[in-house]
Amino acid sequence: MLEDITKKKLENGLREVKKSQTLSILQIPQMEYFEDKERRFKPEFNNSINWKKIEKEEKWGGYDKVFWFRKNIELPENIGEERLFLRVSLEKVGDLDVIPDYPESLLFVNGQFVQGIDKYHKEAIISPKIVQENVLRIYLRSWTGLRGELNYTFSGLELYKIEKYSQKYYFLAKNILDTIDQLNENDIVRVKLLNILNESYKRINFTKPRSKEYYESIKDSYNFLQEELKKLRNFKMDSPKVILTGHSHIDMAWLWTVLHTREKAQRTFSTVLNLMKEYPEYIFMHSSPALYKFLKNDYPELYEKVKEKIIEGRWEATGGMWIESDSNISPGEFLIRQILFGKRFLKEELGVDSNVVWLPDAFGYTYALPQIIKKSGMKYFATTKISWNEINKFPYDTFWWKGIDGTKILSHFITTPDKNNYFYTYNGMVGPFTIKGIWDNYKQKDINDELLLVFGWGDGGGGPTYEMLENYQAIKEIPGLPQVEMGRVEDYFAKLEERIRDKNVPVWDDELYFELHRGTYTSQAFVKRENRKSEVLYHNAELLNSMSLKLLEDFEYPKNSLNEGWELLLLNQFHDILPGSSIREVYEDARRDFEKIKGIANKEIERAISMISKEIKSEEDSLVLFNTTPFERDEILELENGKKTLVRGIPPFGYKSIKISNLEQKQIDEKMIVKEDYIENRYYIIEFNEKGQLKRLYDKENKREVLEEGKLGNVLQTFEDKPYFFDAWDISPYFNEKMKEVTDLIEVKVEEETPLKGVLKFSWRFYDSTIEQRVIVYNHIRRIDFDTHVDWKEKQVLLKTAFPVNIRSTKATYNIQFGNIERSTTNNTSWDIAKFEVPAQKWADLSEANYGVSILNDCKHGYDIKENVMRLTLLRSPIEPDETADRTDHTFIYSLLPHAGTWRDSQVIQEAYKLNYSVIVKKIRKNEEGNLPDNFSFIKVNDFDVVIETIKKAEDDDSILIRLFEDKGSRKEKVEIELFRSIRKAIECNLIEEEEKEIAFKDNKIVFNITPYEIKTFKVWF
Ligand SMILES: [Zn+2]
Repeated sequence: MLEDITKKKLENGLREVKKSQTLSILQIPQMEYFEDKERRFKPEFNNSINWKKIEKEEKWGGYDKVFWFRKNIELPENIGEERLFLRVSLEKVGDLDVIPDYPESLLFVNGQFVQGIDKYHKEAIISPKIVQENVLRIYLRSWTGLRGELNYTFSGLELYKIEKYSQKYYFLAKNILDTIDQLNENDIVRVKLLNILNESYKRINFTKPRSKEYYESIKDSYNFLQEELKKLRNFKMDSPKVILTGHSHIDMAWLWTVLHTREKAQRTFSTVLNLMKEYPEYIFMHSSPALYKFLKNDYPELYEKVKEKIIEGRWEATGGMWIESDSNISPGEFLIRQILFGKRFLKEELGVDSNVVWLPDAFGYTYALPQIIKKSGMKYFATTKISWNEINKFPYDTFWWKGIDGTKILSHFITTPDKNNYFYTYNGMVGPFTIKGIWDNYKQKDINDELLLVFGWGDGGGGPTYEMLENYQAIKEIPGLPQVEMGRVEDYFAKLEERIRDKNVPVWDDELYFELHRGTYTSQAFVKRENRKSEVLYHNAELLNSMSLKLLEDFEYPKNSLNEGWELLLLNQFHDILPGSSIREVYEDARRDFEKIKGIANKEIERAISMISKEIKSEEDSLVLFNTTPFERDEILELENGKKTLVRGIPPFGYKSIKISNLEQKQIDEKMIVKEDYIENRYYIIEFNEKGQLKRLYDKENKREVLEEGKLGNVLQTFEDKPYFFDAWDISPYFNEKMKEVTDLIEVKVEEETPLKGVLKFSWRFYDSTIEQRVIVYNHIRRIDFDTHVDWKEKQVLLKTAFPVNIRSTKATYNIQFGNIERSTTNNTSWDIAKFEVPAQKWADLSEANYGVSILNDCKHGYDIKENVMRLTLLRSPIEPDETADRTDHTFIYSLLPHAGTWRDSQVIQEAYKLNYSVIVKKIRKNEEGNLPDNFSFIKVNDFDVVIETIKKAEDDDSILIRLFEDKGSRKEKVEIELFRSIRKAIECNLIEEEEKEIAFKDNKIVFNITPYEIKTFKVWF
């Protein structure tokens, strides 16, 4: 009790000390300003600008505007050489730190950028070096922001000095007081700290604050406190230790657009540079090469300054990926390209290598990632996000993360506490609460006693503040807390690896599933669709241009054009863009970006196939069918006269040319019956009820009922989708409670009944929305396609399709990047319960030993398979942060593939590729001079378990890069890749094309062994 009174007394006194540390020099109540529609970055103006006066208390602002403010300040004569502070109040603020919005500005003094002014950096330090002839020519570039209250009240500027000892005393005393709060009451250090703090306080003469005697007494108290702290040196700990790195998590787009982020980077980075001048120990890290590239373009002088600090070693460029990517939806090849583009930029531009994959904020991490990290020449993985788990607390903070193929990556979670939240933060504060808390939270104390704390405000908050850096200085002197030291993230991990060597490090052998934000597999459906289409297009463009390069003389591979597309595509994988958690404006940009991304690929595809087609020898007008999948395929071709024909045997990664006259003659004689409530083809009998739902699905070939007896299939289920927080992010655990089926069938129509194809079209109404669906069956493949068009008008409604199947299995299999993952279909454990919605790539499957069912998709990612009910999430329609999200037209296909045996015995992998990759058809004229054959396969593999995912030209030489992976969990010997002509040289390389070893080849074949889910990359000269 008495102690509480002492603490209150000290707190109160410290407030007084803090206030009287500022020595005001000048108040500046008036400036000039204008709105800059050109949004220029630098204060370079001609005479045409109409500057207007703005006085204290005047309003200014607006939505997404840039203003320039200016003022010339004459300094008093006796200013001296001390550092000055400029407080910029473009908005009125009270004492509260939490303000919803604040303009973000960049301050220029005497022609130089100084630092950002934002809600956490309202004061700028003006070093005496930039004061010229006693004048400060001040310019402020201010961005008004996009949300919240935008009527700012101009409140003037103030120039002041700081009384050095008051400030030092304040930070030291404040941190001692905060340390006392963190220590156990019987702790001798706590007792001693309180004692010396109180003694020091008694020495302050508060009789006349701001008087000479007052400041002298503070100096005396400060010296006393320091002396007393030195006597407590023996109580300082060597261990544990906390390594601090300055950081600012800048989302590439979220509640603002990429354009705004580029500007946020300028402000944040100049703040960092300004504080680095004042605090020589300060180290800062930033993780997105894409943002460095933007900065280089937007503001070369600032970029050069950043680069200097990187070379000096105080600014750390790490992270490895081009941007901090999503890894649930983002395809495997994209994750590799993130590192390829990221590491290349870091190396070529900044001369640094990066070993740490830095994804503190993405919403879950694929089981494929450890292998991708390791084989991309990286070693470590860092995040904080899994601590947000809503149901299960993750058991480890330092562990080997073992991936799908068995690769182990050293992973570490940053355990910095956040005062207002249960989870750990990447926006760490510096203070006794976090320094002690990060250690208290940490679970692997037995193997490691050094932790990494990244500190600083993110997202335009400007990164670390001078207060954080002052706190750091103070904490270094205070016993009772873990030791602190500034350091670099890369060094932290390298030393961590040393420390845990030969220790009992836990292993996590699974995906890092994130138990929150499950709606992000589905929100903003268009961006998922565009992403999948782009995956297909860039695969095709690289393959077809590689083919052209090898088939045609003087063909130039469009590396620059494709890489331009790639950069934009990679940018849109950002962990708030692709997941659908950003504002409307971000998705307007994304739509434009994807038009450009697709435009580039389409142009290069068209160019390549035109040039190849021209060289194909043909005795009469023909059609060329390009197959860009690794599998031979049969395809239905629609002719100009409306007739259809089946073309068989289109070679893998190749083409087949067929004379038009030949096509007309081919017909097949197969059964196909399509009625309004009945379909029968070679494989199935399908019956529908009066609501358009599947009443029966019978597999004739395998003599099985596919649906559970008495249950209906393809039931379109809707759910009230109102998560309690994070609307676009979350599907809540209770979503299942209120389900309605879509049953208002308004039309059924037989659209096609030919031996090749049967099409039955259904139309439903659901409130204000309509759903049209074509159920399509074939006689040459077993897939049943549900080609769906939805005009979606609902708000906060989730749409799923459900298939209760006649299968008993406690595990379902989901396609992920470079492989697949098994997840439980039970709710036996809380870990199973948490996975009520899971991410997947192109298919998911539920199989028992001799039969199974797969659901494939052409752009959907959210699945749930519990007990025997397989569901795919089709749409959501959140209202926050984009009020208009998903209330638009949607087109997508999902397919059902019942099959004999398990998924491993089935055609699901091939069919998923075929569903996503259409055959490309090109008409050609008779050309007897052509020197290319009419049937051609560029590259093929002799083993169905091995899938060639990527064929491209190598980045740095003329070889062709072939990337493949084992897709069924088998260990294989002597797998053969066969090329269309003899090989000259073959080298195995890592995923980012760094050469590793020469490999054996014979004629046109490479022979190799492969382990379960292994990814291999070969460079081949031929
Ligand atoms: Zn983020």
